[in-house]
Amino acid sequence: MPAQSQQQFLSKLLGTDFRPGFVREYAPPLSTAPARFTCAPMTSEPWQQFQGRPADIQRTTLRFGKHDILYREPVTLEPGVVQHSREQVTQALAQLPRFLREAVSIVALSPFTNVRTTPDGKSMPVYMEAFPGIAGVNEPTIVIYAQSEPREARGLTLTLLHEMGHLVLGRALTEANLHSKWDAAVKSDGMGPSQYAGVSASEYLAEVFALYLSSRGTPSFQEYRRLFPRQFEVMGAAVKHLEHARPV
Ligand SMILES: [Zn+2]
Repeated sequence: MPAQSQQQFLSKLLGTDFRPGFVREYAPPLSTAPARFTCAPMTSEPWQQFQGRPADIQRTTLRFGKHDILYREPVTLEPGVVQHSREQVTQALAQLPRFLREAVSIVALSPFTNVRTTPDGKSMPVYMEAFPGIAGVNEPTIVIYAQSEPREARGLTLTLLHEMGHLVLGRALTEANLHSKWDAAVKSDGMGPSQYAGVSASEYLAEVFALYLSSRGTPSFQEYRRLFPRQFEVMGAAVKHLEHARPV
């Protein structure tokens, strides 16, 4: 969707103007100190399926304190594509706030790209997706797809925050009884965090979540809070709820 019609879409939906770019372009470095972890030796899982295709996969366990994450990566990629390195992905996980990292059980790097067709018929490569479970197994999973062009490692943690937002925020807003407060906050602030937020109410929520958590503890947080006072207030309550809820 062109930027203009994205904005019109959300303006209609939520009565909001946009200041595009906060999340993607101006988000400061994360304030979170990287968590320490150990990584067991890789073991082989030959001829597993990935996106319905056979793939040669290896796996290990990343141990962050008492929390284990199963990490799966391809031994070889499909020709002509690139994927993040193990080090980039593990460092990004180490930078997540603990309550979010503990909400992830599996991180899987795909050897394949995943291209989606947008409503206006354009091809859009998918970068990352979060699933509450895969193949009937209730293990929250992040899948990072291969890309035709390399992506900067600095975007990894931010995108992880966004994807995790999709996974955990619905529950947080319901349990903490914040849905109507959130809708009122969006209308009251009258401004959205990025162009991408205009795609849907769910993307909007995930973008504010990523902005809130990536700027928390930095001077930029106060600036964003001035711009989005009500949204940051409700997001703060949702984050507080998540930080104190038992991990799933
Ligand atoms: Zn999203």
